[in-house]
Amino acid sequence: MAAVNVDLGKDSYTIEIERGLLDRVGGKIRALTKADKIAVITDDHVAPLYGERLSHALEAERFETRIIAIPAGEASKNLKVLSDVYDAMSEFGMSRSDAVVTLSGGVPGDLGGFAAATYMRGIPFFQIPTTILAQIDSSVGGKVAVDLPSGKNLAGAFYQPKGVFIDPDLLQTLPARYVHDGLAEAVKYGCIGDAELFEIFESLKTEKDLEDHMEEIILHSVLQKTRVVEEDEFDTGKRQILNFGHTIGHAIERYFHYSTFTHGEGVAIGMSLLTEQTEKLGLTEKGTADRLIRVLRKLSLPTSIGVPAEELIPLAMHDKKRRGKEITLVVLKKIGACELVTVPTDELSRYIVTG
Ligand code: NAD
Repeated sequence: MAAVNVDLGKDSYTIEIERGLLDRVGGKIRALTKADKIAVITDDHVAPLYGERLSHALEAERFETRIIAIPAGEASKNLKVLSDVYDAMSEFGMSRSDAVVTLSGGVPGDLGGFAAATYMRGIPFFQIPTTILAQIDSSVGGKVAVDLPSGKNLAGAFYQPKGVFIDPDLLQTLPARYVHDGLAEAVKYGCIGDAELFEIFESLKTEKDLEDHMEEIILHSVLQKTRVVEEDEFDTGKRQILNFGHTIGHAIERYFHYSTFTHGEGVAIGMSLLTEQTEKLGLTEKGTADRLIRVLRKLSLPTSIGVPAEELIPLAMHDKKRRGKEITLVVLKKIGACELVTVPTDELSRYIVTG
């Protein structure tokens, strides 16, 4: 078993990574809370796969358990579904000393975390992430949120869980597209700060190699995100490096109205295009873009796009890292090392080239 301590003062907690952990989480959660009742917030794909096993594990530790399953998918991450979840928690008779466990990908994870942060002004919560994206990214760092009609994640909070339990075996049922989608973020962690992680990806030859290295990839990724979050819990500085590939990636997602490319696919294209350019501009060690593109293609991720840069640039300006007439880009110096580069928005065309 691997354990990563997230050191955030009074909000510190541990992330445990172990195959088969789902069946053992009852005792681990019991050691961390005196709750009588636990609401398990999940979705209607994951509940039939793992809901019963989790209920057994919790009931063995005398928790009264209620599964609250929202419809699967990003479209559920809204105020209406949140309100339904509050109703279900209230109808279950939950008090301030009871707890929430999210068993899910990032959508119910973010929504369930926000429900926990706000129900009765905040009750404890635990995360059992079930997608790669959730295991290496969304369950680490304490950002919880729902979307508003005007944009993603616009109503939210920083609210740390009391524990995160990662069971890589749960990924066996994950559809292939979500596997590759989540791995784009793991490649990102390798690029920005962990050359050893990147080299693991370079060494993979078969799908079986990937499966065999999955626990290691998760651990490296969680460590990388934890280090960044510990330095910048509230996302005011260092955490920006997690945005590598995201300025262009978000523009691509927006261009296609979030329908054609997954988030990870957008980020993969964003990382590739930016690094090809920064290499030409002399900011990135020669050969880096080739190494990156080779790894992403091996993971069945796209690395280029047939949309004119002039159409993406205005969309990239909507990025939350824009401040007035400047935007901060995350630029690789080489694999495993990056820097923040602030660019006037009228010079973005030097950095975003699609042809
Ligand atoms: P998701 O939760 O919608 O899961 C993707 C799909 O996989 C869903 O259909 C789900 O039902 C299914 N699924 C989940 N686990 C499964 C399993 N083990 N087996 C079979 N099917 C399974 O989406 P996601 O990609 O995990 O997360 C995306 C969300 O995460 C977005 O809303 C994004 O904003 C958010 N996010 C949050 C943070 C953060 O810091 N809080 C960071 C990155 C992304």
